[in-house]
Amino acid sequence: MNEQRHRREIEEVLIAQATSDGDGVQLKRVFGGGDLARFDPFLMLDEFGSDKAADYIGGFPPHPHRGFETVTYMLAGQMEHRDHMGNIGRLGPGDVQWMRAGSGVIHSEMPKQEEGKMHGFQLWVNLPAAEKMKPATYNDIDAASIPAYDLDGVKIKAIAGELVVNEARITGSVTGLSTDPAYLDIGFSAFSQVDVDVPAGYTALVYVYTGSVVIGDSEYQLTEGRIARLSREGLLHLNAVSGTKLLLITGKPIGEPIAQRGPFVMNTMDEIHQAIRDYSEGTLV
Ligand code: MN
Repeated sequence: MNEQRHRREIEEVLIAQATSDGDGVQLKRVFGGGDLARFDPFLMLDEFGSDKAADYIGGFPPHPHRGFETVTYMLAGQMEHRDHMGNIGRLGPGDVQWMRAGSGVIHSEMPKQEEGKMHGFQLWVNLPAAEKMKPATYNDIDAASIPAYDLDGVKIKAIAGELVVNEARITGSVTGLSTDPAYLDIGFSAFSQVDVDVPAGYTALVYVYTGSVVIGDSEYQLTEGRIARLSREGLLHLNAVSGTKLLLITGKPIGEPIAQRGPFVMNTMDEIHQAIRDYSEGTLV
């Protein structure tokens, strides 16, 4: 019924880049840094995944954040979060942690295994100025509580947001945020097509972590380890081969200046310098 409707097209494709962060954790930075306005309200996506303990065992010892939200989504392995508020969270396969750093959090993210596979993602979602200095909050979301949908062989885990996919309303665990983020993990068990109704003006990102997908009316195959940033108007059309797994991430742009220095994301460099001072003087949290 949507045949006449304009489809979102690919504006940019980025290849995830090998890098290391924390205490020597080997990971792939899908995007992050540089001109971030085009990804607004998203700031960064990392994929960490290895079956070699040396690649992850160092973890992320205590470090600060201010001004945005971190979302950790595990596919395999065990990770433990501890923060200055006294929260201790164990994340296993399928679990999600949605942490609002707000005015400041100091936490560690450490592996709770000494061998075996570790695989997951961390997404950074920006906060508008009015929410950057609100108190930190922390939300552990158990895998079993995350809404799962099966639309004729297209399996969707809805971590966040509300979207219409192939005329079915999908509602995730996390809703009601001012950036209205949607975060879907979509698996294709057959060669199949999906139409997603993303609100006009919203940023839309597709990251393939297994397989390949064709988007919109193009012939381009978006393959494993690549992210596509799409135009901000029209229906989002995905045409995937069987076995493809991808993350679909959409959100409402904030439209404010972005100033970033490492784990602090504010609107101005003055606010960044204040965050650095607060952290060094012990008053960040
Ligand atoms: Mn962190």
